[in-house]
Amino acid sequence: MNNIIYECYLEAGKIASKVRKETLPRIKEDIPLLEIAEFVEERIKELGAKPAFPCNISINEIASHYTPQDNQPVFKKGDVVKLDIGTHIEGYIADTAATVEVRSNDHSLLIQTSDEALKNAIRHVKNGVETSQIGKIIETTINNRGFNTIKDLTGHNLERYNLHAGVSIPNYKSFFSHSIKKDTVLAIEPFTTYGRGNIKHGKPFIFAISNKCKGKTTQDITKIFESLPFTPRWIPEIKMKELKGTREYFESIESDGKIVAQTEHTVIVNEEDCEIIT
Ligand code: MN
Ligand code: MN
Repeated sequence: MNNIIYECYLEAGKIASKVRKETLPRIKEDIPLLEIAEFVEERIKELGAKPAFPCNISINEIASHYTPQDNQPVFKKGDVVKLDIGTHIEGYIADTAATVEVRSNDHSLLIQTSDEALKNAIRHVKNGVETSQIGKIIETTINNRGFNTIKDLTGHNLERYNLHAGVSIPNYKSFFSHSIKKDTVLAIEPFTTYGRGNIKHGKPFIFAISNKCKGKTTQDITKIFESLPFTPRWIPEIKMKELKGTREYFESIESDGKIVAQTEHTVIVNEEDCEIIT
């Protein structure tokens, strides 16, 4: 990886990590989710990066892909909150997530298990590691604590302006596998749940321009976000109806309605290990 690109990743990672740490303590009962999402997105810009996607704040059985549009909902006591943040510098993306509870400690083991699964996985990442091996470590860690992993949600490699660049990092020992090479940038993100870990789709709140999109509005949006995800509240002057053919990111919801925790870091793969940039 050339030095300029490496520096962009490091800076994007540093900012994502800083914003995550600053934001988690601000998640409090009765505060609108929107206030947190806007804090995250503004803080990323203040620190010199751009959001790589709308701040995801997914609560309880919602595993991912929710972002608020207005002053409802608000955080409630006992909510298990997944905060998922993406930053980029010149298209070089860092992706990170953590889970907290609102004024309770009922799900610490679930959350800690997600953290532990990520830590164990990262310890094994180096040139030549198999994606199914990473998945196996994640699954074993989670099952050993009596929880289930979510097989339908995966980590992914990152490329310039490309959030899911083709390689998936499974959260279980998958049949299919891929050998990871040095310099690959990976987002690894175990999801842990009390449920069986199947996913159903909710509504879409996050969209991206796809090659099916046509017209002037598409060009305007592409100029701002490239191919990266955006959300309607970012472009109040544009009606979503004008944007036919967009890719929709549906909310991922645990189908038993059980609580989900998530932990995510972005790493750069080295010969003998990997470097956590978030
Ligand atoms: Mn993420
Ligand atoms: Mn991710």
